[in-house]
Amino acid sequence: MSHFAFIEDPRQDPKKLDVEERREVFKEIYKSFDLDSAKLQADRCLHCGNPYCEWKCPVHNYIPNWLQLIVENRIEEAAELSHQTNTLPEICGRICPQDRLCEGACTLNDGYGAVTIGNLEKFISEEALARGWRPEIGPISPNGKKVAVVGAGPAGLGCADILNRAGTEVTVFDRYPAVGGLLTFGIPPFKLEKEVIARRADLLQEMGIQFQLGTEIGKDISLGQLLNDYDAVFLGMGTYTAKTGHLPGEQLPGVIKALSYLIANTRHLMQLPDPTLPYLNLSGKKVVVLGGGDTAMDCVRTAIRQGASSVICAYRRDEENMPGSRREVANAREEGVKFLFNRQPVEIIGDEQGSVQAVRMVETRLGEPDAKGRRHPELVPGSEQVLDADVVIIAFGFDPSPAPWFGEHGIEIDERGRIRTNARFQTSNPQIFAGGDMRRGSDLVVTAVDEGRKAAEGILDHLGV
Ligand code: FAD
Ligand code: SF4
Repeated sequence: MSHFAFIEDPRQDPKKLDVEERREVFKEIYKSFDLDSAKLQADRCLHCGNPYCEWKCPVHNYIPNWLQLIVENRIEEAAELSHQTNTLPEICGRICPQDRLCEGACTLNDGYGAVTIGNLEKFISEEALARGWRPEIGPISPNGKKVAVVGAGPAGLGCADILNRAGTEVTVFDRYPAVGGLLTFGIPPFKLEKEVIARRADLLQEMGIQFQLGTEIGKDISLGQLLNDYDAVFLGMGTYTAKTGHLPGEQLPGVIKALSYLIANTRHLMQLPDPTLPYLNLSGKKVVVLGGGDTAMDCVRTAIRQGASSVICAYRRDEENMPGSRREVANAREEGVKFLFNRQPVEIIGDEQGSVQAVRMVETRLGEPDAKGRRHPELVPGSEQVLDADVVIIAFGFDPSPAPWFGEHGIEIDERGRIRTNARFQTSNPQIFAGGDMRRGSDLVVTAVDEGRKAAEGILDHLGV
């Protein structure tokens, strides 16, 4: 193949569904590469010697190596290699914010367009699985140890994968009725279809991991019981306390918490309703979403698909400083979401019956950068405006949700409620390890996978196997 493929063949993303169809269905919007286009795109890699993409990827995937295997149509070997560093490659390939991670670090960003690393990572697993390939782990010699993993989200799955490959007997407990944590119940199907996670759960089960779903630790089984029955326990329980804006009117019934809205919608689509989380259909409503992260983007795009009459996302900084993925902001805009940047909500206005009527906002401008280089918004005097709304969704992010039983077992948390660990991901109780969002604060799927995998190494070390 040509040495100048990166110039001759421009970066190409896989095709997306037509925007009209996207606005109506809860289906993934990106189609997959076929073999020829995957080879063409993989061949754009310069093999630049010091692969910045690999360094920037939190799990340090062997990216240039698997790109070369795609070019040579050695897809099963590429899949084997990609599974050496990542438990959920087809999932990270779909939903990592690649523009801030691997692709953001690609040398070809210098005017040529980064290699489409994420979509190629997805392609490898999809193609290999379609060819009948399955992850190779055996023959494993059992190491005689048993570990309980609490939480079947990315952190728990990453941990269980490594422990299982090392011959440990692993049981993953989750309070929800399906595997995946936020992958299943938080992230909507237009970014990640639920069949993809169910297939991964089946693969992990075939590899030997046991799941005990619908089981809440601290309610159905105590942590003390797990500590008696298992040699070690890993906690990967996520962060579930919604941040509030402390706005007057935030308690009105028409004000909705982002994650409750998303979970109820997904459970409705999966026909797994939860009586404690009523499904809300926003068809015909004027919806305003407050916030600018991934959760806000998922809410605006869910409301569009439910047929909301208008959907506005109001964010207090400018577009450049939004924490969400650029790709998802662009997708939301294509689907009809309107953005109001530099707007700080100051009040949610309701009528006498308690229904939401409007949001009062003030314009902001960015102040000087602080010590970390982050520019904080300042209010512009006299810039107040009132925006009509039937429903307001609060998407200000999440704080940790430490369990009340942590103290009984000597598990320490920090001043922000995050679980404290040492460098081996071991908590202040030596038999208990932790990782993912509950340790680092809400972050990403790939960082949770990484922490789960590293914690597994810490557990194996601790158990002396
Ligand atoms: P979780 O995924 O939250 O999993 C924790 C699991 O623990 C849950 O299944 C929970 O039921 C279980 N659990 C908790 N307590 C107990 C208990 N007592 N007993 C039994 N089980 C328990 N990241 C990206 O990289 N890309 C994205 O596009 C993206 N979009 C997002 C969209 C939304 C709406 C949200 C909320 C997050 C998004 N994220 C995204 C972030 C990502 O989902 C999280 O960082 C990641 O899921 C954290 O993994 P985790 O395993 O630490 O926790
Ligand atoms: Fe990029 Fe995420 Fe895949 Fe790493 S895991 S190569 S950051 S898409």
